[in-house]
Amino acid sequence: MNDCRGRWSEPGSGSRGRDSGYPSCTRVSPPFPAGASGKASACTICLGRHRHSIATCAADRFWDNSGRTRCTRNGSGQIVTPENQILCIDWQRPNGCRSTSHDVRHECSGCGKKMHSAQACPRAEKL
Ligand SMILES: [Zn+2]
Ligand SMILES: [Zn+2]
Ligand SMILES: [Zn+2]
Repeated sequence: MNDCRGRWSEPGSGSRGRDSGYPSCTRVSPPFPAGASGKASACTICLGRHRHSIATCAADRFWDNSGRTRCTRNGSGQIVTPENQILCIDWQRPNGCRSTSHDVRHECSGCGKKMHSAQACPRAEKL
């Protein structure tokens, strides 16, 4: 039944075959587990959408190895900017944060812009 599922699990590194066409069992399921929206969220630290623990990611390079990540995590798992500002975690999520009481914590963890979150960052891995 699901004998081709194993093909979707990545060994951890190396080439990603997303563009090379799927084998004949594509009708089974997409390579990512379907979330609420059907899309993988961008990681707030490395901005990657590949399958990894984005809740605890502590990468020091961006997903595409294009440079050092901007933010880091502190001991409590909070996202901290180079200015030592703790960012709002909800803001970085696909659903966003509706609070207006802490605008200073609403900036993109990837590039520091206030207009978007990590999900909409131009540096984030494209879907
Ligand atoms: Zn990450
Ligand atoms: Zn917020
Ligand atoms: Zn950004």
